[in-house]
Amino acid sequence: MLDFLWTLQRIRWVDLVDISLVAAIFFVILYLVRGTRAVSLLRGIILLLILLALLSTVFQLRAFGWLVDRALPALLVAIPVIFQPELRRALERLGRAGSLFGRPTGPRAAIGRAISAITEACRIMARRRIGALIVLERETGLQEYVETGVVLNAEASPELLLALFDPHVALHDGAVILREGRVVAAACVLPLSTAFLEDRRLGLRHRAALGITEETDAIAIVVSEERGSISVAHNGRILRDLDPDRLERVLRAFYQNVLEPRWPVRLRKTRRETEELP
Ligand code: ATP
Ligand code: MG
Repeated sequence: MLDFLWTLQRIRWVDLVDISLVAAIFFVILYLVRGTRAVSLLRGIILLLILLALLSTVFQLRAFGWLVDRALPALLVAIPVIFQPELRRALERLGRAGSLFGRPTGPRAAIGRAISAITEACRIMARRRIGALIVLERETGLQEYVETGVVLNAEASPELLLALFDPHVALHDGAVILREGRVVAAACVLPLSTAFLEDRRLGLRHRAALGITEETDAIAIVVSEERGSISVAHNGRILRDLDPDRLERVLRAFYQNVLEPRWPVRLRKTRRETEELP
């Protein structure tokens, strides 16, 4: 007890700043990787480190301690390699400072219209079993994927979207990308997710939707050709079997601070809709 008091007396305000700084860095790292597959990896690594540290200090295993000492720097090199996609995203997010707090993006009216157009088009395509893949660009630029397709830059309308996914049209294969409510390109090639999917019915279209949302903060909407179902992917996770009205609610929830900028009162509701993603 005395020891503890003695330590307390020796704490200077610099130490407090020091500790807060380390805590803040851990907070930012955890905040940025939150909801990605990096979380379980990170948990594994931390557990491993604690275990190793305990083993080598409690039992005074000299040879083993030596091995751990040598292996740790290697681990530090390995982490950026393992977490490369997550780190890239995190740094991108940091670079766009302020986006962490849900800064509104883009012209409001165009986004509202685009959401209605997507909902309407998906309603019809789901009924007719026409496959579709629509990607909404958010903070992370999707230019590299836009360039794999055919550039359009047109106003979003249900008719245009239906025409672009018409199986008789050459442009129907691949994804349509929207930026700030405008259709920028069609027939784009997206990265495929390599995640393990339990449901074998999820094919390449769904993998492409997951892939783009693993690598960027985009939202991807899929209409299944086989089942006529609508799904929305975000952050590497997919919310399946939505009816068109639910799709519209989910999309509006994602864009709530743009459509109705009454932040922060509205933030709660946004989180609830989007947190339903499993
Ligand atoms: P569905 O339920 O509609 O059948 P699915 O998930 O089973 O979808 P597939 O049947 O494999 O997927 O769908 C193939 C279609 O997905 C292709 O015709 C193409 O339009 C689209 N697609 C496949 N790979 C990509 C990709 N990398 N980028 C964009 N679109 C892709
Ligand atoms: Mg299929």
